[in-house]
Amino acid sequence: MGSSFKHCPYCSSHLIRSGHTLFNYYIQCTSCQASGPKNRSLEGAVLHWNELSETVIRATQVQGNDLLTRIMKMENSVHQLEVELNTSQLD
Ligand SMILES: [Zn+2]
Repeated sequence: MGSSFKHCPYCSSHLIRSGHTLFNYYIQCTSCQASGPKNRSLEGAVLHWNELSETVIRATQVQGNDLLTRIMKMENSVHQLEVELNTSQLD
């Protein structure tokens, strides 16, 4: 059985285990107790858990980039305003 679990999408912990109920398997983080979607097979549960992890990581990265872009745009317009103010003072 491969243990290629991706880290927890909620707390980044690597302490991941698989568990099962009577009919379903699931993947659970032992640090924050978050669990992935239940699935009939262990492979399916692992797949869903890894997808969840990747989706959350991607969303966080996009958010971070978006924020950075907005800060850079804001800096640019402040700089432009500064330039405009300086040139108008020369008149
Ligand atoms: Zn966790």
